Amino acid sequence: MKRFARIKKQQNLYEDVTQAIKTAILSGNYPSGSPLPGETALARQFEVSRPVIREALRALQSMGYLDIKRGTKGGTFVRDIIRFPLFDDFHHFILHRRIKVDHLAQARLFLEPEVCRLAAVNATEEDIQGMKALSEGYGGKSMDVKDQMYSHFHRLVGRACGNPIYAMLMENIMDFTEGFIRTIKPVTILIHHDHDHDEIIAAIEARNPKEAAKVAIRHATQILRAMQELEQVYLERLKDSAFPQSVPPTRIEST
Ligand SMILES: [Zn+2]
Repeated sequence: MKRFARIKKQQNLYEDVTQAIKTAILSGNYPSGSPLPGETALARQFEVSRPVIREALRALQSMGYLDIKRGTKGGTFVRDIIRFPLFDDFHHFILHRRIKVDHLAQARLFLEPEVCRLAAVNATEEDIQGMKALSEGYGGKSMDVKDQMYSHFHRLVGRACGNPIYAMLMENIMDFTEGFIRTIKPVTILIHHDHDHDEIIAAIEARNPKEAAKVAIRHATQILRAMQELEQVYLERLKDSAFPQSVPPTRIEST
């Protein structure tokens, strides 16, 4: 059986378990589509109770790492995640201005209004329920988990828009967004707030494509403006710090 890293057994048991499983997935121990061990086996491996495992699996599901399927062929499966392997190098890209929040803003403002417009036309009831469930589940979550849930919302809208190419582009754009946020954001600042997505959901549920596109622009503009401010602060700080400025930026793999 594949092994997970040992957890330290401190206060936030479920967050530690979440992190250990996430690491196992990202490091390729559990490739896309493969099943995770069952709840009982995981509880035994981590030496924690089953509710802790269940909570960690739910968190990973809402972050988009896992699919939990019910029924006879059910189980917990690793989602097919398309990822850019450059997060660790993000500070270099930002530092050398190879990637700017402006680039992200251009891409998001180009794509998201159309994705939201299409979602208002094509989202299934199940898609909409999924968006609502995510948006109602922020209570008690750590800021880190919330950040991932906020960005997962945009992935869900992408998946609901009915165009698999746009869905994939949204996955990639949100990977970039998360990379930026993880790099430039002090952990104590929230870029999103819990109700920021309500009007997008409302427009999609009302089947109002025009309104959905409009609120998508408003939301993306607001988020990106906050990110641009953080980027400035981050760059200012880098000027004064002993940051490894001599290290050349790695090339982005073209795909
Ligand atoms: Zn958002």
